Amino acid sequence: MTSNHRGFSTRAIHDGQSPDPTTGAVNVPIYASSTYAQEEIGKHKGYEYSRVSNPTRTALEENLASLEGGASAHVFSSGMAAIAALVTMLKTGDHVLCGSNVYGGTPRLFDRIIANYGIHFTYVDTTDLNQVRRAIQANTKLVHIETPTNPMMQITDIRAIADICHQRRKEGQEIDLSVDNTFMSPYFQRPLEWGADIVMHSTTKFLNGHSDGLGGVLVGTTPEHKESFAFVQKCTGGILSPFECFLVLRGVKTLAVRMKQHELNGRVVADYLAGHPKIPTVLYPGLLHHPQHELARRQMSGFGALITFETGSFKNANDVLRRVRVCTLGESLGGVETLISHPASMTHAALGEEGRAKIGLSDGMVRISVGIEDAGDLLQDLEQALSVL
Ligand SMILES: *Cc1c(COP(=O)(O)O)cnc(C)c1O
Repeated sequence: MTSNHRGFSTRAIHDGQSPDPTTGAVNVPIYASSTYAQEEIGKHKGYEYSRVSNPTRTALEENLASLEGGASAHVFSSGMAAIAALVTMLKTGDHVLCGSNVYGGTPRLFDRIIANYGIHFTYVDTTDLNQVRRAIQANTKLVHIETPTNPMMQITDIRAIADICHQRRKEGQEIDLSVDNTFMSPYFQRPLEWGADIVMHSTTKFLNGHSDGLGGVLVGTTPEHKESFAFVQKCTGGILSPFECFLVLRGVKTLAVRMKQHELNGRVVADYLAGHPKIPTVLYPGLLHHPQHELARRQMSGFGALITFETGSFKNANDVLRRVRVCTLGESLGGVETLISHPASMTHAALGEEGRAKIGLSDGMVRISVGIEDAGDLLQDLEQALSVL
């Protein structure tokens, strides 16, 4: 049951789900079944084997397709499994253009595994449209971007990149633009409305929202996407389990209220950090001095809850991170709890010193994923932690 004329919150709570016809259960059960009884050879109720499809998964997939405004969605066992599924559809000789400042696991997968199959990758700063135009080749089948970027919070103009890709398509080239929308969630940013062809998420983050399960999704816009993503699920088997699907379905019901509170707290923390005498740099698209504030305002309906700030040195960052009590030092983001991390040694260690310098990521930078605790407690915690500077 999907109805696009309804509001976001209503769709988040109802789409893909209706009360169980036999029991009236309001929530979609966790269908812990690998297989399904068939009435006679070839006659079944739409389900045969759970690698191919499972009713709990179907509910989540219909729900996420609706929230992003896509034609179909397919969920995978993690965000990385979703990205792997995306590039599994490519063939030897194909080329992928990827943002140079995307989630660290993405270039690691591309360069160290997928490149071995003769697929070529180029990385460019996608905030610079000329670099994108120049790097697209005749064999480019996929342009993969992330906006805002992690952890530098740079914004890429989705509409502009989509226009570049669609111009190529008019000339006969098969090319898709995929956007990793993990940082914003469909509540604040819907890339398909700006012309993207595919949206990808690590559902591990805001969609689940409670830091209690990994997952990933690909939302497509064409019958070919639907067919090929379902085919990868069936062939490679990296699907999301019914229990994990249930967790995301449950998390998504509160996506709108959580995102509103994440952003309220995010703005309070960003303003506090921007006014702190010992913090020279705060990267948050909601701040007026963010170089792409206007683009962020146009493309997103909110600025989210991820903030990166400079403490001055590795030692300073370590001193601050050792002292936090309400914020939790850890990887990941998008949970109800505030998570704080050191990108240079954690999420972006694999980039190497040179790679980090290229994107402007220093050893003193700290990233915070602002949760939905009481903002006053977060400020107090940061105040005592930053007093060491
Ligand atoms: C976490 C993350 C991923 C990878 O997702 P997993 O669920 O950890 O596999 C991909 N992209 C972004 C932006 C992420 O934050």
